[in-house]
Amino acid sequence: MSHHDERTFVMAKPDAVQRGLIGEIIQRLEERGLKLVGAKFMQIDEELAHEHYGEHEGKPFFEGLVEFITSGPVMAMVWEGADATRQVRQMMGETDPADAQPGTIRGDLGLDLGHNVIHGSDHEDEGANEREIDLFFDDEELVDYERADAVWVYEDE
Ligand code: GDP
Ligand code: MG
Repeated sequence: MSHHDERTFVMAKPDAVQRGLIGEIIQRLEERGLKLVGAKFMQIDEELAHEHYGEHEGKPFFEGLVEFITSGPVMAMVWEGADATRQVRQMMGETDPADAQPGTIRGDLGLDLGHNVIHGSDHEDEGANEREIDLFFDDEELVDYERADAVWVYEDE
């Protein structure tokens, strides 16, 4: 069971909220078998935006990215499951929706690099999932429970 408990940070970005896509995003992750363990509807301030996207500071798109991500509410979430970080990235598709495969969230729901609907922790950046979860959530905001269908999602649950 322990290898089913990887957690990753996911966020429906301001464009997704404004376009009414929160439910669609949650539905896709839920149906995959991933378990929602934390969720917060919130607006990101300048300081949090700089921390969250610190790796991109100095890049030409950085100021626009901060402006966008703070421009309206987001749905910040923590999802848990086997290989969750990499699996969510696969479901998201390429960063630029123009390159994302149909069937992925960005490939089905977006057209523009700056407004690409969803954020998920980078599985190639070791520990990024834990860092981002810690940045957005206190421990007591994450809920421990079993999904009733876990024995059907996983062979060895
Ligand atoms: P992600 O991990 O797939 O979200 O991609 P990155 O970590 O590389 O970039 C963070 C976010 O910055 C992306 O999701 C895009 O919304 C935005 N972004 C990345 N590269 C560019 C760019 O070249 N131009 C613009 N306008 N936005 C970008
Ligand atoms: Mg990234």
